[in-house]
Amino acid sequence: MKLLLHVCCGPCASATIPWWQERRAEVVGFSFNPNVHPLLEYRRRLTGAREVCEVAGVELVEDQSYDPAAWFAAVAAGEGPRCARCIGQRLDRTAREAAGRGCDAFSTSLSISPWQDHEAIRSQGAGAGERHGVEFIYEDLRPLYAESRRLSRQLGIYRQKYCGCLVSEWERYRES
Ligand code: SF4
Repeated sequence: MKLLLHVCCGPCASATIPWWQERRAEVVGFSFNPNVHPLLEYRRRLTGAREVCEVAGVELVEDQSYDPAAWFAAVAAGEGPRCARCIGQRLDRTAREAAGRGCDAFSTSLSISPWQDHEAIRSQGAGAGERHGVEFIYEDLRPLYAESRRLSRQLGIYRQKYCGCLVSEWERYRES
């Protein structure tokens, strides 16, 4: 199975990619994360994603269209849960890429994180898959989270302290 794996960051990918490879998936990584602010933080995380993919022997396809103003207009300013839109935007782009590349399915390294909204991952991924005619595979990989922390420390990969957007940075540090 050829699987396009949305890679949110190096630490999450460090255990997710081997998990899929052990299940005989032919993994191609895909980076599209315009939700990560500011720009230098985005670059640090992209560097970590590249490092993990190189170690795993996986190609990383990069969509570097990065426009925080467009992200705030499209995602942060809308009605309803911000995170579902954010996840949906990234998975829709991944589904489009997967369909264009003739992949059998797509998934995301977000599914290893206990801090993410897994119902949003599941529903947004399924919707994106339907729109683009490619299967979305949801796997609850949260039990591997501790392993991802261990692996990213071992590899010396940058580990972020907040989810990604400026709102999440404020939520993380406002009490400190
Ligand atoms: S907290 Fe994370 S998932 Fe939610 S909108 Fe911000 S970057 Fe996206």
